[in-house]
Amino acid sequence: MAAAYHSIDLARFALRPGEGRRLDLVADPGQLELAGQRYTAAGDAVDARLDLSRTAAGYAVRMRFTAHVSGPCMRCLDDADVTVEVDAREVDQAGTQDEELRSPYVEDDQLDLGSWAHDALALALPLQPLCRPDCKGLCPVCGVSLNDADPDEHRHEQAPDPRWAKLRELGSS
Ligand SMILES: [Zn+2]
Ligand SMILES: [Zn+2]
Repeated sequence: MAAAYHSIDLARFALRPGEGRRLDLVADPGQLELAGQRYTAAGDAVDARLDLSRTAAGYAVRMRFTAHVSGPCMRCLDDADVTVEVDAREVDQAGTQDEELRSPYVEDDQLDLGSWAHDALALALPLQPLCRPDCKGLCPVCGVSLNDADPDEHRHEQAPDPRWAKLRELGSS
């Protein structure tokens, strides 16, 4: 995969208002953190498509990519691989006081692609990445993954408590 772009000079395309340009390039969303766990995109990069258009006083950009993100399953901590679709838009109008029209990723015609890809991917990530949709998680008593375990072996409440055995002994005598 080609080296990732971290920032793009939007002025380089010399677009006039109403004109647009489609760009296919590699972006590096970096590491993501969710509930204290780390997640990364496969290959540390994504193939992103940018649709850039020049507005009357700035830019509108749409970014789309598919990321294969891996990290620990939220239930069993086994490897989880999730496919995440990102479709994000930003508008930036230079010189405006209206915060709605300013993009945090555009500064002096430079688009901070890495930060935008990171934040957009973090937003699109499922709240609970799982190794599989029906992951059974860990046994709350012994901590073993229940996915490949025989559920009968984890009915721990049926394990005899030695104190009860002692009482039964006393009762029967
Ligand atoms: Zn799992
Ligand atoms: Zn168990």
